[in-house]
Amino acid sequence: MKPLFHPSLVNEPFGDPGVYVDCLFEKRAVLFDLGDIRALSPRKILRLTDVFVSHTHMDHFMGFDWLLRLRLGRDLKMRLFGPPGFLGQVEHRLAAYTWNLVENYDTDFSLEVIEVNPSGEMRRASFHCKQAFRRGNESTVMSRDGVLLDEESFLVRSVSLDHKIPCLAFALEEKEHINVWKNRLDEMGLPTGPWLQDLKRAVRAGQPDNSSIRAWWREGTATRERFMPLGELREQVLKVVRGQKIAYVTDVVYHEDNARRIETLAKNADVLFIETPFLEQDAQRAASRYHLTARQAGTLARRAGVKSVVPFHFSPRYDDGGEQLRHEMTQAFSATGE
Ligand SMILES: [Zn+2]
Ligand SMILES: [Zn+2]
Repeated sequence: MKPLFHPSLVNEPFGDPGVYVDCLFEKRAVLFDLGDIRALSPRKILRLTDVFVSHTHMDHFMGFDWLLRLRLGRDLKMRLFGPPGFLGQVEHRLAAYTWNLVENYDTDFSLEVIEVNPSGEMRRASFHCKQAFRRGNESTVMSRDGVLLDEESFLVRSVSLDHKIPCLAFALEEKEHINVWKNRLDEMGLPTGPWLQDLKRAVRAGQPDNSSIRAWWREGTATRERFMPLGELREQVLKVVRGQKIAYVTDVVYHEDNARRIETLAKNADVLFIETPFLEQDAQRAASRYHLTARQAGTLARRAGVKSVVPFHFSPRYDDGGEQLRHEMTQAFSATGE
């Protein structure tokens, strides 16, 4: 089974933080954090539909201009999620440029910006290129269980963490994978086709077992069809598998409240990307900057029961290529007991 998500760090671990996730089969990608993104090809940047910004310290947000520069003049929409104060900050970034000719553009690039507050309140506004990126269409909604985005095949959840300011951590969760047993279909005399998508959709939506599913296919110029109960098809031809989960945690101080939130967010993730800026011997420095140590990062990963960990956001004070940071994190991750 091919995985849906292909995540990778935007830069090497000493560079600006960020994770690019290509969503196979979906012709789209999402990005966690928007620091220096020039290492991403324009083609990759144009695939982005959603960008999630943990907080607006410069190393997490300076790529906004480059993103905008590449997307301008294209008829594309993009969503941008960020922490408290984000709407005003995006508005100010846009206001730093002159937009007197944009009403003549053929295209209308637009940004939908969503500010996520610790209470779960999400304030939205849109900024259209043709309207010189003036703020409009404002509304407020509440997120349910921290869900920021709920798509057909995946969702993105966030928690608000303490970095002396609210900082968002994110989890990208694929919904259940539904595989089809082709040989069983053959045995039942049912060809594959678009109707299988309808079947999967019905299963995902939790429709009752007695709902009728229309299997249809073409034979020459004729269309054949058969109606069958959803429950029977699920039993006979489908295999439901848990989806992939990717978590992204950065710029956060170690204390119990943060630790619990991270543990819940990243629970059983396939991969956790977690900041690993300092060694435990520099724990004082880490705490005063509201960052983690490598040992703390590894401990959090172990508590969350994740399958694998990718450390990043290394401090430039360590000149051994990050070997000690990696080693300390891995030791804590694989240690037994608390
Ligand atoms: Zn940072
Ligand atoms: Zn920061």
